Amino acid sequence: MNGKRTISLIVPIYNEEKNINNFYQALTVILANSAGFDYEMIFVNDGSADQSAALIEQLARADDRIKYLEFSRNFGKEIATTAGLNNARGDAAIMIDADLQHPVELIPEFIAKWQSGAEVVVGVRKTNQGEGLVKKIGSGLFYNIINRIAEVKIIPQATDFRLIDRAVIDEFNRFTENNRMTRALIDWLGFKRDYIYFNANPRRDGKAKYGFWKLFRLAVSSFVSLSLLPLKLAGYLGMLIVFFSGVLGLYILVGKYIFHLNYASSFSGPAQLAILIIFLVGIILMSLGLIALYIADIHGQVAYRPLYVIRKNNFFD
Ligand code: UDP
Ligand code: MG
Repeated sequence: MNGKRTISLIVPIYNEEKNINNFYQALTVILANSAGFDYEMIFVNDGSADQSAALIEQLARADDRIKYLEFSRNFGKEIATTAGLNNARGDAAIMIDADLQHPVELIPEFIAKWQSGAEVVVGVRKTNQGEGLVKKIGSGLFYNIINRIAEVKIIPQATDFRLIDRAVIDEFNRFTENNRMTRALIDWLGFKRDYIYFNANPRRDGKAKYGFWKLFRLAVSSFVSLSLLPLKLAGYLGMLIVFFSGVLGLYILVGKYIFHLNYASSFSGPAQLAILIIFLVGIILMSLGLIALYIADIHGQVAYRPLYVIRKNNFFD
């Protein structure tokens, strides 16, 4: 121990054989220029099928600041960053992509904001060169919807490129839910935040692993884990249907059998039957909505989030 604080760099890696060495070179240059801290680099190899594992092991032999975790298969970036955080020993952790899209030059700025008191420093993307229109529209839509329905606000363009303080890491490690989005969980935790705006570089080499469908699945599972609205929607729809078909049905029944009015007999038998069936469908949907309320309860309990998060206390002083 030399009294220096340690910073853990967490790097998820999936088939990045063409980027790993460049990334490592760029990183070491930056770290050498920001002495004053000890660093550990945690490479989480998320089941790469290429030479990534061999390259990481080779680097680790030459540089004892490198720690690695090798997954038995691909578990996804969210799980990879989680594993990194679970094993980080630093006083703060910085999560950064291996494809050089997150500029390593900004690492000192993240650290500076942390030293001036921020507990979460979030990298926010200004532009993203080389990103398709579909992805742009998709992500715009995603943030728009999720911010309307989820209980935590998510800043659009906020990336996984972030620094979190030890206090936040410890709280993060208490999460037990399987279906997770790392940055959303960090946002949920709160703490003092600061932002760094950056231009994302185009991916250095290889392809983005998150294609349209993988992103789509991530978006859907975030909706499901952050909000219960999709579940309740069926119930609301049922209420609407029951209301309108009920009113219409009553209008016909009352007109026909009580007041014996003409308009009522102009609804044919099949039409009346149709209204009855629609009414019953409405009741079924409403029951689904009701079940949704119970599932919501179970969902909340099963996700097993901490009830509250404490920044500081003096109980153990
Ligand atoms: N990644 C991972 N597991 C995956 C997909 C990606 O660990 O299943 C890593 C990848 O190697 C990279 C980072 O996560 O370091 C970001 O991936 P990518 O560049 O494909 O995502 P994008 O930049 O499009 O968000
Ligand atoms: Mg990328």
